[in-house]
Amino acid sequence: MTKSWSGGKVRAARALVRRRGRFQQCQRCGCDLDLDQDPWHAGHVTDRMDGGSDLDVAAECPRCNLRAGGRRGAAITNARRSANKATDQRLVKW
Ligand SMILES: [Zn+2]
Repeated sequence: MTKSWSGGKVRAARALVRRRGRFQQCQRCGCDLDLDQDPWHAGHVTDRMDGGSDLDVAAECPRCNLRAGGRRGAAITNARRSANKATDQRLVKW
């Protein structure tokens, strides 16, 4: 069972990234980020779906994070939910 990526974990990841310094670059596009001024996300260096750790995170601009990780993760999560539901229904029938 995959643990969810939300709430306290996101806060912990953001704190982890922020401790590396105020000025960082987006790990995907390389744009400059001022972590105290600009909107930014903590993005997985290795996708969670590829076995990445929730502590293996880096700063990303929202544009990159929402385009790359967010949509892919949501699509996979939704697909898994559908698959689980199908399995449940089969178990009920049997
Ligand atoms: Zn970016």
